[in-house]
Formats: sequence, C-alpha cells, structure tokens
Amino acid sequence: MRLQDRTAFVTGAASGIGKAIADAYAREGASVAIADMNIEAATAAAADIVAKGGRAFGVACDVTDEGQVDAAVQQTVKRYGGVDILVSNAGIQIVHPVEEFTYAEWKRMLAIHLDGAFLTTRACIRYMYASGKGGSIVYMGSVHSKEASVLKAPYVTAKHGLIGLAKTVAKEGGPHNVRANVICPGFVRTPLVEKQIPEQAAKLGISEDDVVKKVMLKETVDGEFTTVADVAEVALLFAAFPSNALTGQSLIVSHGWNMQ
Ligand code: NAD
Repeated sequence: MRLQDRTAFVTGAASGIGKAIADAYAREGASVAIADMNIEAATAAAADIVAKGGRAFGVACDVTDEGQVDAAVQQTVKRYGGVDILVSNAGIQIVHPVEEFTYAEWKRMLAIHLDGAFLTTRACIRYMYASGKGGSIVYMGSVHSKEASVLKAPYVTAKHGLIGLAKTVAKEGGPHNVRANVICPGFVRTPLVEKQIPEQAAKLGISEDDVVKKVMLKETVDGEFTTVADVAEVALLFAAFPSNALTGQSLIVSHGWNMQ
C-alpha cells in the first residue's frame, strides 16, 4: 500500500494509460479522481475501482477549460480532503504533414497537451502548497518529448514542452516538497494508437502491418509494444518516491526505442 491516505487527480483516466494508472494507484491505497471529458467512461472506470474495493469517483473535466479544471480539482479536495498527486495525462493525436495542419488542429493539440498540463498543475499545486505536505506531479510525455517523427509537429512540440514545464515546477515546488517528473512512453496499444495505425498507413502509403513493424516498433530492442501496465509502474514510482531526490526528470519506457 504505497499510496495509503493519498489522493490522486488523474486526467484522461477513463481510457488507456490513464485508466491503468488510476487502477494501480487505487490498488496501492490512493483515493482517485478519474478526471475526463468523457464522463460516462470516467464514471464506469470509477465504478470498476469501487467494485474492487478501492476509492474513486468520475469527474467531468475538459483540461482545456480553466473553469472545469478548477471546479474538478475543488470537487476532489472537497470529497477526499486534499490532492497529493496529479497525473496530467489527457491527450489526443492528430497526424498530418506540417503543411496540411489547420491552425485549429495545431491550437487544439497544444491546448490539450500544454494548456491542460498548466491548468491542472496550477489548480493542484495550490492545494499541495497549502497542505504543507507537498506532492507529486507526473506529466505524460512521450518518446516524442525527446525526438521527432514525421506527421506529428504539434504533438512533438507539446511533448517537448512538457519537459520544460516539469523542470520549472520541480524548481519552484522543491521548497514545498512538490516533485515534478515526466514519463516518456514508447508506443502503447491504446485507442489513441489504434486510430493512428490506418491514418499513418494512408499518409505514408504503406500497409498497417508495416506501420506497426517499420514505423512504430522498428527501433525497439525486441519489436514489442510498451504496455499500460509498464507505464503505470513508472507512474507509481514517481508518485510514491519518498524524497525530492527524484524530481525534474524524464524517464523513457519504450523497449529501448530511445536511450537518451
Ligand atoms: P486514450 O485515447 O486511450 O485515452 C485518452 C483519454 O484522454 C480519453 O479518455 C479521452 O477522453 C481523454 N481526453 C482527451 N481529450 C481530453 C480533454 N480535453 N480533457 C480531458 N480528457 C480528455 O489515449 P492514451 O494512449 O492512453 O494516451 C494518454 C496519454 O499518453 C496522452 O497524453 C498520450 O499523448 C500519451 N502517450 C501515449 C502513447 C501511446 O502510444 N498510446 C505513447 C506515449 C504517450
């Protein structure tokens, strides 16, 4: 029970990686706010955790909406008495060559990945400072926080940006015992990636099988996808780490795709 008596606010936790992190945190004793713009799926994910004996609730939250973020965090604090862990994880993917991106798509990508990270950080860190207990902030980066791929200009830009935010929050948060770190997963077979496989095949003029083998997993050491469980394990490490020794870091979990 590494997260006994802690409260976690996890965005995008109704699906994929965020859902696995919420499950892992609840198994380790945390009370979890499943914050997602898909409230039906968030409510169902919370009900699953409760059915297994954990503590969780679903809360509607579009991370690009300042009012919704503040209200969702406030609701979490009211329900569980505070917030000790933030996982800023909500995200989407849109793939085009740079010249084909509309300005609206570019802004939407940066709003979800970067504005969402800022708004949730600001909302949670105020409570972490006020409690005097500090906390842990985990940003969901990507191997694309470290390197580029074709068709992903706004995603790569935003994921690189999260590392700057995490380092700044780590410096400002240090005196308050608030840590900030980034997880950088390789490809994980979630709905976000399933959607991309046919889209990349069409844009690159190759088969879906080749997108998986020659684009997504080509540089891994063993041709394997990273799993939601792998990423949840790292999220647990960052959340439960007992001191400020581990802060301002970005950890790649990608089957060796990237070794920076
Ligand atoms: P997913 O599609 O399974 O889940 C994303 C969740 O985010 C969904 O529940 C969705 O409703 C929610 N969401 C989307 N926009 C939102 C918004 N504006 N406000 C609140 N919630 C919103 O995707 P996933 O693969 O689990 O991705 C989660 C995170 O992991 C993303 O930040 C993604 O960039 C990152 N990531 C994914 C992979 C991968 O290969 N799947 C690799 C590296 C990083």
